[in-house]
Amino acid sequence: MKMSKVLMPTLREVPAEAEIKSHQLMLRAGMMRKVAAGVYSYLPLGLKVLKNVENIIRKSMDSHDACELLMPAILPAETYQVSGRWDKFGPEMFRMKDRNSRDFCLGPTHEEVFTDLVKGEIHSYRALPITLYQIQTKYRDERRPRFGVMRSREFIMKDAYSFDRDAEGLDKSYKNMYDAYNEIFNNMGLDFIVVDADSGAMGGSGSQEFMVKSEVGEDTIAYCECGFASNIEKAVCVPEETACPEGDLAVEKIHTPNIKTIEDLTNALKIDEKVFVKTLIYNGDGKIVAVMLRGDRELNETKLQNYLGCTELTMADFATVEEVTGAKVGFAGPIGIKCPVLMDSEVALMKNYIVGANETDYHFINVNKDRDFTPDDILDLRTIVDGDKCPKCGKPISTVQGIEVGHIFKLGTKYSEALGCGYLDENGKEQPMIMGCYGIGVNRCVAAVIEQHCDDNGIVWPMSVAPFKVSVVPVNVSDETQMNMAEEIYNTLTAKGIDVLMDDRDERAGVKFKDADLMGAPIRITVGKGAKDGLVEYKLRAGGDVLNMTPDEALAKVYELVK
Ligand code: ATP
Ligand code: MG
Repeated sequence: MKMSKVLMPTLREVPAEAEIKSHQLMLRAGMMRKVAAGVYSYLPLGLKVLKNVENIIRKSMDSHDACELLMPAILPAETYQVSGRWDKFGPEMFRMKDRNSRDFCLGPTHEEVFTDLVKGEIHSYRALPITLYQIQTKYRDERRPRFGVMRSREFIMKDAYSFDRDAEGLDKSYKNMYDAYNEIFNNMGLDFIVVDADSGAMGGSGSQEFMVKSEVGEDTIAYCECGFASNIEKAVCVPEETACPEGDLAVEKIHTPNIKTIEDLTNALKIDEKVFVKTLIYNGDGKIVAVMLRGDRELNETKLQNYLGCTELTMADFATVEEVTGAKVGFAGPIGIKCPVLMDSEVALMKNYIVGANETDYHFINVNKDRDFTPDDILDLRTIVDGDKCPKCGKPISTVQGIEVGHIFKLGTKYSEALGCGYLDENGKEQPMIMGCYGIGVNRCVAAVIEQHCDDNGIVWPMSVAPFKVSVVPVNVSDETQMNMAEEIYNTLTAKGIDVLMDDRDERAGVKFKDADLMGAPIRITVGKGAKDGLVEYKLRAGGDVLNMTPDEALAKVYELVK
């Protein structure tokens, strides 16, 4: 491509709306522009990267025997109603009615549609296993679209679905996709780890996420040197023994006016924060529950949501808290509360602790489970933190932020049973198909690659995803020798099928170099004053010296790197 002919509007200033590097650079390099919150147009540079990422994915999917097809984005409600997800998706699903008032949605993910297709087309064990996939646009009305294409409302996903005869078959199909994903993310030049993940609204048994390590990642990963790696949403906590007051102490109600925070309370009573047990009131799809956690711990909302099986989970509003506790907010406790009480496993090991008294300005001290109240259930509800015991080996856990670029699930029969997708086995008996599903966020991969491959001057593309492998910069476009040499290099590379960007604009060399660095082609060939002596300058974007050489030598180097 020649810059004079294409739309590549680069920006010098950092756009104010962009908080993270990849978002800033995608705007500054002219890869994309915003149309609405979480909705973007891709300009030529962005589109080329997107296609490269898609093709890396397609190549590995195809070589792992997955079969590509393409589904629509507009989907009728029926199959989602049958699976239960029409309701479960809640406000994240874009919905609409057609002119005859029939319900449709813009597909947020396609399990139902693939299952329905296979139900109609495959009837015998002989046609199984099969893995189908598409690279297609998804729609989710995210609560908080942000970070550019990292979390957008319209995005491209590679989604794949496997159909097997039995659990063993699913294990094989899942492993096959696991291998494909490792190949795909390695080919994109990403530094990633695979972690155990929550299966969430998708249902099913096992699932793993492919996480790109990055400080801007919205997910937190707990990992250990023993090989344990899990999304903290899922990571099981080992209950810690808390040092509590000893003996069989009597419950006492104490007056604690003007206490607003746990810190106020522990300061006033001169106790360790850990001997205080907080009681949080939550609302899961309208069901109110109280959750008891040690004072210094955080609730893991995913664990609570999975336990309650709810779609929307929020902290209860003040009115609800006052209703179930009979007190102002800040004095909730398990004794006498008018809602079910769930206790974190760690609290179950504690004794003689402090809780709110369900009476404004009062707390109870020396509270003990079973003697003073009985929780409705005891389970792991807290969020794992740095230094916690590894649930696998017991050594201290570390945490790091990650960007989820891919997710693989063992779905089992959730969708095949709901939608009646079965096959006839060798004995002519009807069996439900066993399914897996496998997603990759294509646009999010582009952003993740940039997060890991950039410097102060712009993007530093890995060769595999680079929109252009070479940037050819004639310094003075009115110099015939320079232009002829640049044209020849451009034509030779283009004829070889290598993507080249020639900056044939009548701009100062400094401007061209800045833009070349910003757009990040791995190799730059500058045709300047040396042209009259038959020389060009060769430089790698990732660093290193400017080397003088003949065009043929430069081309030879390009072939070597591009191959
Ligand atoms: P997240 O937890 O980030 O919302 P998810 O669990 O909802 O992701 P999946 O339903 O598993 O995501 O979708 C498969 C892949 O699609 C994800 O791994 C991610 O790469 C991508 N993806 C999901 N939501 C978005 C979004 N709003 N914008 C861009 N990519 C997304
Ligand atoms: Mg999501």
